[in-house]
Amino acid sequence: MSYEKEIKVLDHGYVKYVGHLGCDEDIVADARMSTGGGNKTPEEDKKLLNFLWENEHTSPFEGVDLKLEVQLPIFVFRELERHRTLTLIETEILAISTTDNSSRCFVSKNEFSGRYAKMPELNYIPVAERLGKQGKINHQGTEGDLTDEVKTSILDTFKAEQMSTRGNYEGYLSQGLSREVARMNLNLSQYTKLRIKANVLNWFKFLNLRLRNNAQYEIRVYAQAVESIMKDLFPWSYSAFEEYTYGAVKFSSSEMTVLRGLLNTIDENNVAPTLNNLGWTKSKTEKFLTKLALNSEDL
Ligand SMILES: Cc1cc2nc3c(=O)[nH]c(=O)nc-3n(C[C@H](O)[C@H](O)[C@H](O)COP(=O)(O)OP(=O)(O)OC[C@H]3O[C@@H](n4cnc5c(N)ncnc54)[C@H](O)[C@@H]3O)c2cc1C
Repeated sequence: MSYEKEIKVLDHGYVKYVGHLGCDEDIVADARMSTGGGNKTPEEDKKLLNFLWENEHTSPFEGVDLKLEVQLPIFVFRELERHRTLTLIETEILAISTTDNSSRCFVSKNEFSGRYAKMPELNYIPVAERLGKQGKINHQGTEGDLTDEVKTSILDTFKAEQMSTRGNYEGYLSQGLSREVARMNLNLSQYTKLRIKANVLNWFKFLNLRLRNNAQYEIRVYAQAVESIMKDLFPWSYSAFEEYTYGAVKFSSSEMTVLRGLLNTIDENNVAPTLNNLGWTKSKTEKFLTKLALNSEDL
C-alpha cells in the first residue's frame, strides 16, 4: 500500500508517516492462527477484530507496527518519552545512547546526538490565545483569560529570551566551545526531532491518554495527528478503539449501585424500543442489560 502523510503541528512541528507493517486484516489473521482459520469475509473479520478489542485479547494488535517521524519542542518530548512502550529513535539532540530493557516491553532507545550536529534554530512560541491563568480546578491546566496587554508583554519576553539563548549558543560555538557543552543552557521550547516506532496496541494506549482534554494542549495536537494516521491505516482497529476504549466510560462500583437504582425507576416500556431504534441487535441489548445487572425480561 502506498501511503504518504505529513501533518503540520504547532508552529514548527510535524508528524510524518515513515512506514508500517501489517493492517487490520493481519490482526485478524494473527488471531486466527490458533484455529488455522485465516481471513474470512470483511464483515466476519471486522466482527472478530471488534470482539478481540472489546474483550482485551490484545496480543494480535501487537503484531502490527507504525513508524512516524516527529518534530516537537523538548518539553513535549519529555511527555512523549514517558510512554515507555513507544520506541523512540532520536535523530538530533540527546547525547545518550542506551538500550533499556528494564520495562516489560523491552524498549530499545537509540538516540543520536546534538553533540554531532548543531541544534536547529527552531523554538516554539505559543499563539496569544494559548496564554491564560494558572488553573484552580485542574492544577495542571490553564483556566481563565489574561488581558491582551499582559499576553503581548509575555510573548515579547518569551521571544527575547529565546533569541538571547540562541545568540549565546551561537557565541559559544564561535568561540570554539564543543557542541556537547554549548547546548546545556538551551530552552525547553527548543525543537527536536525523532522517529518513533510502536505496535498498534501501544499507539492506542498513547492516544487514549494524550487525546483527552486533560492532556496538555501541545501534546494533544501531536496525538491528534497520530490519530489521523491511525484512522487512515487501521480503520477497523481505530473504530474498535473509539467504541470500546476512547468513547467508553468506566463506572465505579458505588456509581453502578446508584445507576441501577435510577434505572429501576425508568418506564419499562421505553427501554427495548429505544435500543431497537438504535439498531441494536438482541445480543448487544442482552449484553448491555447484563452489565447493568438488569434482566431484559424485566424491562
Ligand atoms: C493528563 C496526564 C497528566 C500527567 N501528569 C504527570 C505528572 O504530573 N507527573 C508525572 O510524572 N507523570 C505524569 N503523567 C505521565 C503518566 O504518569 C505516565 O507516565 C504516562 O502517561 C505514560 O503512561 P503509561 O505508563 O501508561 O505508558 P507506557 O509507559 O507506554 O506503558 C503502557 C502500559 O504498559 C504497562 N507498562 C509499561 N511499563 C511497565 C512497567 N515497567 N511495569 C509495569 N507495567 C508497565 C502499563 O500497563 C502501562 O499502562 C501524566 C500523564 C497524563 C496523560
